[in-house]
Amino acid sequence: MKDRRIQLGIIFFIIFFIAISSIYNLRKESQTVNVSIEYKEKTLAEISRIRDQVVAIRELNITKNIDVRFVDKEWAIRNWAPRSTDVPEELKLRELFYKTTFLIDWNQSIVSLSQEWVGLFVAASSGYTLYINIDYFNPDSQYSRNVLAHELTHIIQYEHFRVNWPSCTDARNALAALVEGDAGLVQRLYCSYTKECEPSEPWTVDYNNLYLSFSAFPYIYGEIFVDYLYREGGWELVNAAYSKPPIDTYMVMYPKSYIEYLRSNVSYTPCVAEAKADLVDTMGAFYLYLVLSKMTNISYASLITKEWKSDKVVISRNGDTTDIKWTIEFQEDNAAQAFYETLRNYLASRAHVVHKESLNDTGYLMKIDNTTVIYNVLLESSNTVTINIKVTSKLL
Ligand SMILES: [Zn+2]
Repeated sequence: MKDRRIQLGIIFFIIFFIAISSIYNLRKESQTVNVSIEYKEKTLAEISRIRDQVVAIRELNITKNIDVRFVDKEWAIRNWAPRSTDVPEELKLRELFYKTTFLIDWNQSIVSLSQEWVGLFVAASSGYTLYINIDYFNPDSQYSRNVLAHELTHIIQYEHFRVNWPSCTDARNALAALVEGDAGLVQRLYCSYTKECEPSEPWTVDYNNLYLSFSAFPYIYGEIFVDYLYREGGWELVNAAYSKPPIDTYMVMYPKSYIEYLRSNVSYTPCVAEAKADLVDTMGAFYLYLVLSKMTNISYASLITKEWKSDKVVISRNGDTTDIKWTIEFQEDNAAQAFYETLRNYLASRAHVVHKESLNDTGYLMKIDNTTVIYNVLLESSNTVTINIKVTSKLL
């Protein structure tokens, strides 16, 4: 396990706290960790050298000094991951949604999964501050150059583009894919121009860890997306994307649809809170794909996903009962039908089928410890599927 985590850590570099700062209160201990003078000097010299090369590649300047801070994995988890002692209500609702839609198992906790995720980073940046994780970062290794080229691109982005993180998960993931993909592409170009490193291996979906894969969306799809823009219109088009970023993961997965959006008059509609709901969100095509990958083979899952049009999650909690309503609209009726059947078959294989006498419609009932979950799946219209989930937890 440890080896695998280190390996993942080496593949990853995260600007994580920008993306999570809207959910968690960003804690920042000013006290960081001590490193040897040699380690510090080597790292600073590498940053200054690579900074000039990255600025030349990206054709955008960094005009201010970079504040470099050395931290370790424990520091990162303490400062950037949610704590098990004060879990925000929103996170609890999200955890329930992930469980009832099979992204994570019932015995998994989003707090420990988030801590695991935060613990993976090698280096991170926030504004002009560059954080180096001394547990993974070795200034003598070739790989440290990939990491620095990537992070220095984030500092360029900070100086030149104003990024407003949207309220919906899907739009946030899409914007993060632009930001991470840009940094990923610069890292790749840096290695191929200078021959000082090997470009990082592409990150792919881990079907055994769907939560990690969901979190890794910007790294899985971002670089392919930005590379598409770069080939279409060079840095000019990539820069233009920051003025009108992709609004859903579908556009990132199918970049042609993003170009159409960019040239259209359509704009982003934020997720709007509802009076009786505790959470309103859009999960997006990639979330649907991951959920489907658990229920059917991946080529069928991607066929259905390609027809995603929109979705909406509404969660309301009332005492020990939580109501979740997830509505998914498809571009094609066939895809809605296919999703409807795939989901019903999957539920039927895992839950008790409850007949019309006890519910308004055929439902599926699952019992997990002290929790009862009832699913009602409806083909709302020819292209829309609605999943109503009622979760009741009995406290001991
Ligand atoms: Zn990054």
